[in-house]
Amino acid sequence: MLDLLGNLERTHANGALRAADAGAHVILMGWVNRRRDLGQLLFLDLRDRTGITQIVVDASADPALHAKASSVRSEFVLAVVGRVVKRDANTINKNLPTGEIEVAAEELRILNESKTPPFSPAEDATSAIANEEMRLKYRYLDLRRPAMQENLELRHKVALAIRNHLSAQGFFEIETPFLTRSTPEGARDYLVPSRIYPGSFYALPQSPQLFKQILMISGCEKYFQIVRCFRDEDLRADRQPEFTQIDLEMTYPRQETVFAVVEGFLKAAFAAAGVELPTPFPRMTYDEALRRYGSDKPDMRLPALADVKSAFSSDAVQTLGLDAGLPLVAVRIPKVGEVSRKERDENRELFSAKGGAKVIDDLKRLEKSWPESVAKVRAASQSAEGDLIVLVGGGARADAPPAELRKAETAVYTSAGMLRSELGRKYAARHGAFDGDAKESSSYRLTWVTDFPMFEWDEEEKRYNAAHHPFTSPHEQDMEKVLAGRDLDSVRALAYDVVLNGTELGSGSIRIHRQDVQSQIFKALGMTDEEARARFGFFLEALEYGTPPHGGIALGLDRIVMLLAGATSLREVIPFPKTAKAVDLMVEGCRSNF
Ligand code: ASP
Repeated sequence: MLDLLGNLERTHANGALRAADAGAHVILMGWVNRRRDLGQLLFLDLRDRTGITQIVVDASADPALHAKASSVRSEFVLAVVGRVVKRDANTINKNLPTGEIEVAAEELRILNESKTPPFSPAEDATSAIANEEMRLKYRYLDLRRPAMQENLELRHKVALAIRNHLSAQGFFEIETPFLTRSTPEGARDYLVPSRIYPGSFYALPQSPQLFKQILMISGCEKYFQIVRCFRDEDLRADRQPEFTQIDLEMTYPRQETVFAVVEGFLKAAFAAAGVELPTPFPRMTYDEALRRYGSDKPDMRLPALADVKSAFSSDAVQTLGLDAGLPLVAVRIPKVGEVSRKERDENRELFSAKGGAKVIDDLKRLEKSWPESVAKVRAASQSAEGDLIVLVGGGARADAPPAELRKAETAVYTSAGMLRSELGRKYAARHGAFDGDAKESSSYRLTWVTDFPMFEWDEEEKRYNAAHHPFTSPHEQDMEKVLAGRDLDSVRALAYDVVLNGTELGSGSIRIHRQDVQSQIFKALGMTDEEARARFGFFLEALEYGTPPHGGIALGLDRIVMLLAGATSLREVIPFPKTAKAVDLMVEGCRSNF
């Protein structure tokens, strides 16, 4: 028989009581974390989201109460009325904030029972939950775990800090519609059928892009929204079909204006998680990022690539089978120490996957033939004892047309960049740079990457795509090329990414505010006037009514919280996430079948 709550009201949370409360008469409520029977004495750990309080029931004082307490099981819901008593010195639990006291029960109400849970939400049982499917199916039990409660709290605090910061800077949070027209962000849309117009669909927003721009045309000046976005694309650990962005837009900004706003709210968000973030973040152009790090998402915790071409004579370059016209760079991973033969073989597999580029991983062997060159490589890459160095160059090619040269050059840098991050990850434990959960500011290395190319050539479709999205403004200096429709490969965009430890946290741009430029961009992207009007006519029209220059950015909230929580999957920080197959296992599927 279950008991009624009646007029009991809890006086304290389970993490609240301390030695100073001894003698107080209290009412606690919570789940039974664990029950321990020691004959005369029975102990119950009562849990809520704030912590645990030990309840003690003494059979000699009240046999009926003891019998009742013996009947409770893990995850039963109880109300306990009792008195706070100090524990004897030898029974104090230093691991619990409430460990100096316990509550001697006088009354116990069983408010609800629980089936035996498939896994225990008790804190120290966490490591036993190996099966993530089970966690997702019984998400309510999983979320009861203190670690998950902490993640939810962190998410709340981070979002609140961002809201407060942006509000103080004069940004208004403004909602934009979910049932709307397609917004191109490079993914597929989720569609919702219209009941009123059979055969027609709403698209769920991939981002509020056009609405936030229209808010600038509307005079809102500074908009932000912590907003759900929907993208139907292949899932990975760091992707979810619905995810949350910190989306913002402002009028008359230079790129630096947007950077300062983002640096400000990220500083506030990180502070909410106890991390001091140095600002401003370093900045580099896309070209620089490529040449120095082999990636447009550089992980700044590892050394930059070193250009070591000049260390080798042209004879050596030829003997090594390298192309003299292409770069030769050194990837250095610090403090790796001895690399065993087995590891070297494994690495070779890693290397051989990088098409086009040529990798030289045995510096010792190279040293036998070219000791001076290797010494120069070591100096140029600032190598110290125990560092791993791998050289990446271009394989010798027959005379290729100049257009191919740029591609081959990029391939050398990107191959080196991939090796750099893969080797970095692989040897992380040894060089200590990638401790995901280290809460020191030095483990969070942020950077801005600017001046992305405006267009990307799509070989399959034989046309250009917008590298960011089609509303991004070209550089003012490159505007003429755009208007003339020539030399589009070299047009730079006023687009920027903010990158944290090799992961893109967000992207944005200064937008096109002129209708003629916007129409020209649609044309450059292979859209006819009719197509452009059909898809974006409302927006092209809006641009004709005095659109001020504007720009903005969007950052992934889930990703920020994941990194701050030291987690490796977004599912750890999203309360009800979907699996890699885009289903919510708790609600048994992803859709309603009619
Ligand atoms: N709409 C873009 C995105 O969601 C961000 C931006 O350009 O502001 O990626």
